[in-house]
Amino acid sequence: MNRKYRKTVIAGNWKMNKTPTETKEFMTAFKAMLPKGRWCDIALCVPAVCIPAAVRAMRETRVGIGAENCNANASGAYTGEIATNMLVDAGCKYVIIGHSERRAMGETDADVNAKVLAALEAGLIPILCCGESLEQRELGITEEFITMQIKCALAGVDEARIRKVVIAYEPIWAFGTGRTATPEQAEDVCESIRSVIRKLYGSKIARATSILYGGSMNEKNAYDLLAQPDIDGGLIGGASLVPEKFLQIVEAANQPTA
Ligand code: PEP
Repeated sequence: MNRKYRKTVIAGNWKMNKTPTETKEFMTAFKAMLPKGRWCDIALCVPAVCIPAAVRAMRETRVGIGAENCNANASGAYTGEIATNMLVDAGCKYVIIGHSERRAMGETDADVNAKVLAALEAGLIPILCCGESLEQRELGITEEFITMQIKCALAGVDEARIRKVVIAYEPIWAFGTGRTATPEQAEDVCESIRSVIRKLYGSKIARATSILYGGSMNEKNAYDLLAQPDIDGGLIGGASLVPEKFLQIVEAANQPTA
């Protein structure tokens, strides 16, 4: 982390877990535990039906609520989809875009790009996910693959808007598996993502861009991962479902930085 130049962000991704009632229970417990004073930015991205309960519970706290996906179109015949202006109106601040679980359901780089542009247009903070498969890592093409994902996702995003984007590096082989990337492996890729941003937008913007790591981050390994200079926070799945565990990760984000 480097709090001097960029925000530290700890974001939860609940995936398809918790009902609205369970959301209210989680938020009530988590709110009671939140430390006083200004720490890192905290986001909780929850299933669409849980957004109203989450927003209501976290009003007047510094926890921002987010969605796990959006549709790039403003409105129309897209049964079951949710537009970015609907998310804003429901009180969302963030939206996860390009998660590998959605890419596995058919989301393309072009879809991810359209969603990033739509989210920015609506005033949402996109948490843009990228990450290689085990096969790609073993072939030694991690950097090329991620560079391509980032360049595609950010096509048409201008200098004024890139400042709003949070990037999350999530190696596919490391999440939901309990198999975390080592702090060095995660740092290497986050550093190379920063250099892609540097080439695209210049060093000032690269230095100010928050790049998160996601992949079995938990209350035990968070401290070491967050101690890396180019890892500015975490996107957390499983460990964000338990208030005590999520809080411990937030606490790890409060460690002193160089
Ligand atoms: C995720 O799905 O974004 C994630 C990082 O999951 P987990 O923390 O459970 O590996």
